[in-house]
Amino acid sequence: MDYRDTPEEAEFRAVLRQWLSATIPAGWDKIDDEEEAVELRKEWHRTLYRAGYVGMSWPVEYGGRGLSPVYDAILNEESGNMNAPSLPSVGYIGRAIFTYASEEQKRRFLPPLLSGEVSWCQGFSEPEAGSDLASLRTTARLEGDHYVVNGQKMWTSGGQYADWCLLLARTDPDVPKHKGISAFLVALNEPGVTVRPIVIASGEAETAEVFWDDVRIPEEQRLGAPGEGWRIAMTTVAYERGPADIGFIAAYRRTLRKVERLATERGLLEQPETRKALARAYVRGEVLRLNCMEQLSLRVSGRAPGSEGSVAKLLWAEAEQSLQHLAMDILGADELTGVADGWLSSYFTSRPVSVYGGSAQIQKNIIARMLDMPR
Ligand SMILES: Cc1cc2nc3c(=O)[nH]c(=O)nc-3n(C[C@H](O)[C@H](O)[C@H](O)COP(=O)(O)OP(=O)(O)OC[C@H]3O[C@@H](n4cnc5c(N)ncnc54)[C@H](O)[C@@H]3O)c2cc1C
Repeated sequence: MDYRDTPEEAEFRAVLRQWLSATIPAGWDKIDDEEEAVELRKEWHRTLYRAGYVGMSWPVEYGGRGLSPVYDAILNEESGNMNAPSLPSVGYIGRAIFTYASEEQKRRFLPPLLSGEVSWCQGFSEPEAGSDLASLRTTARLEGDHYVVNGQKMWTSGGQYADWCLLLARTDPDVPKHKGISAFLVALNEPGVTVRPIVIASGEAETAEVFWDDVRIPEEQRLGAPGEGWRIAMTTVAYERGPADIGFIAAYRRTLRKVERLATERGLLEQPETRKALARAYVRGEVLRLNCMEQLSLRVSGRAPGSEGSVAKLLWAEAEQSLQHLAMDILGADELTGVADGWLSSYFTSRPVSVYGGSAQIQKNIIARMLDMPR
């Protein structure tokens, strides 16, 4: 693939830059109040959609524009370059719905997902089922034309702010565990759903426990066939893990420049250890960038993401975490005594990157299988 912009892409990029510089809400990244920050992100989603920038590579009949994925990548890159609010992640739950839904379900669920009218969360993990997701215990029992759901989900990101959930539940306890799971599309305001936010180390309640107590779901809200839940879950996480987000590279480079400035201000830039660590951080960013470009060219050729997303996920987690770790090394006690505002929180925010979407160890297991290594 030729990564240079075509004349049409260059024109699109120029118009987009102007639009972003006129539209990015001033001071959005200084908002401390979590609810206000979530509301701003939702409003940003709707603003992008109204301007035609959400789901550009999605089919027109479901609210997209039918363009090449290159346009989504340009939006991603320019948003990262211009420090815009994070882009809506319509990709992974949306792609799962797109891949497995009936025509009627696609027309019902995809347009409001793309427009930002309805927000979604992913209800897969449970207290005793994370890496070993197939052992999940939440059940969905068919009674007439409804399923009745009972159980508990854990670490449901954004559960307290979402309207709907892509839920996995066991519909058949008598078959091998991977084969007895089904997927459902469920409104979180149904009677019997209780959402309890979990505050993580960064101080943010970005994830939640969700309790399901005799929740009734119409049969037509099952996604895919009964027992197809595992396949749907694997498609969802393949889109979630990779392809790595090109806008992340721009944000990563900005953070790297800030860390370099910290080292300069503290007179550490001439130290060989600091220089080596900064050089390593730069190289990690470049490796990630090249991986992103490779993934983009696969998407442009029409290939759906597969287990190679595990490589992207691992590179991303390592790059992000080691850069934040380096910032901590440079700041030393200043961070803990509150002199260096904000770094501790971003350090803690980077910690779960190697856990959500499947832990780093699990990604290594998947890569080992891809390489045909002995178990
Ligand atoms: C901030 C955050 C957001 C999340 N968001 C969501 C979400 O929106 N939706 C959702 O469904 N889930 C979400 N998760 C859950 C996440 O997917 C799980 O935490 C993750 O899969 C690990 O599962 P676990 O926490 O149960 O840990 P465990 O599976 O108990 O693992 C504990 C440790 O053992 C290691 N381990 C386990 N099995 C193996 C093995 N076979 N080989 C080698 N090492 C192994 C793991 O790598 C880990 O280090 C989120 C988690 C976090 C922290």
